[in-house]
Amino acid sequence: MLKRYLLAPGPTPVPSEVLLSMSKPIIHHRSADFLPVLDSAKKGLQWLFQTKNDVLILCATGTGGMVGSVNNFFNKGDKVIVINGGKFGERWIKICLSYGLEVDEVIVEWGYSIKPEIIEKKLKENPDIKGVFIQACETSTGVYHDVEAVGKIIKGYDDTIFIVDAISALVAHDLKTDEWGIDIMVGGSQKGFMLPPGLAFVSVSEKAWRKNETSKLQRFYFNFKKERENLAKNQTNFTSPVTLIIGLNEAIGMLQKEGLANIFLRHKKLAHATREAVKAIGLNIYSKESPSDSVTAIESPSGIDGQMIYKTLRERYGITAAGGQDKAKGKIFRLAHLGYSDIFDIITGIAALEMVLKSLGYPVEFGKGVARVQELLM
Ligand SMILES: *Cc1c(COP(=O)(O)O)cnc(C)c1O
Repeated sequence: MLKRYLLAPGPTPVPSEVLLSMSKPIIHHRSADFLPVLDSAKKGLQWLFQTKNDVLILCATGTGGMVGSVNNFFNKGDKVIVINGGKFGERWIKICLSYGLEVDEVIVEWGYSIKPEIIEKKLKENPDIKGVFIQACETSTGVYHDVEAVGKIIKGYDDTIFIVDAISALVAHDLKTDEWGIDIMVGGSQKGFMLPPGLAFVSVSEKAWRKNETSKLQRFYFNFKKERENLAKNQTNFTSPVTLIIGLNEAIGMLQKEGLANIFLRHKKLAHATREAVKAIGLNIYSKESPSDSVTAIESPSGIDGQMIYKTLRERYGITAAGGQDKAKGKIFRLAHLGYSDIFDIITGIAALEMVLKSLGYPVEFGKGVARVQELLM
């Protein structure tokens, strides 16, 4: 038997309470049984997103939420800025281009975070920029971008909206949607929310809704105006993914018991302990600035292929972490501490990492990394 452990930055483990809640018989999405379920989910999401804005619930993966955040608010030829510091920054560019937007790409070296002054300068020089796109956590590099600082700059521009892919940052990071001027924020169920894949969440500010009124891009499935009208009636535009929304309420209930401040503190501590343990083993963190609390990207030691570390963890020990993507492939591997994660997930990951490194010929003193986690998290 090979027992499985999931330490990937999505999908993430789902607690048994949530799994059990989703094993109930299916209810009808337009029936009186379901309306209170959706009402509770929408309020719970507003709590998690720290917003008074509508938080739309879409039956899609996170990328569906990203697509809808483009084709509901812009027009062909609109100038937008995309901050591209990794694989997911590239995804914003591809989506924007596919709808004919004019993209001004701000390249951030992989492993580094955005300098907000760059955005400030660009907006001053180009007041016709209609939107700025960013990741809160760039999952491919393990970097957290300072969305608070960027949001505060964009607040000063009435015709520019700020769109944040927080798919891997939500729940792990304290993201103050309203206070920081985040007009659109996208989440995905299989990351911090402790749910299976299948739901995307998108918060939309009044400033963004005004843009929706003049946006004429092609859309059918992701029609946010219709979703908003339905949400007001505790419905979704098409058949609601009832099972996942029931699970969402269970997960939010667990998170509410913990409380926002404790949730963020837990992630901060787990991330810190992971980084310290990795350093105690003698490896380097790939994120040179602002490492995220969701996922840690680790450089593989010279002469050892990062994909081998990831593969050996999985094949020999049943631990699914993540490798590197694109230009980081082979150079790094990643350990997530996102969602339903605690001290023993970190200890498991670090202990197995020590064993894998040893088997690949890297000199490891057993227990060094594990001891660091114990010291820091006891
Ligand atoms: C996982 C992830 C996505 C994409 O999510 P899918 O659910 O696979 O569509 C987008 N952005 C970031 C930052 C992510 O971590």
